[in-house]
Amino acid sequence: MGKRIIALFTSKEYRDSIIQEAVLKSGTIFNTLKVETTPTHMKIMGEIKANEDKAQEFIRILKRMGGIVRELGTMMKFDPEKCVACGLCFSLCPTKAIICNKDFSIRYDFDECILCMNCVNNCPVNAVSYLGD
Ligand code: SF4
Ligand code: SF4
Repeated sequence: MGKRIIALFTSKEYRDSIIQEAVLKSGTIFNTLKVETTPTHMKIMGEIKANEDKAQEFIRILKRMGGIVRELGTMMKFDPEKCVACGLCFSLCPTKAIICNKDFSIRYDFDECILCMNCVNNCPVNAVSYLGD
């Protein structure tokens, strides 16, 4: 398991070699999961495969190159107090980010999340929310 991030660059700052440069300088592996291009920005979602120190170095390098970098774990919030354990999110999650415990309570591992928003859009009690980027 790695650390999932979203890196946002303006089209002016972005160049194709940015990720490769950060990988080489930090000694990490980066798996790109999703790329979104708008007329003004490039948004890259991916997973850093490295220990914490190297992952943070990778993030620092992207920031030095002008990127805004957010860790996915800080972009989503789960409130177990609100959750009624209906299991809907668990059945809709395309990754292993939602875990059903033996007692049928639910917990989230946002390091596995790909921000598909299935849980956010379908939870009947708004127990999970997207904090934005
Ligand atoms: S946003 Fe999608 S991937 Fe992330 S926890 Fe919710 S259902 Fe799973
Ligand atoms: S959909 Fe909402 S209430 Fe149902 S298990 Fe998931 S977080 Fe809990």
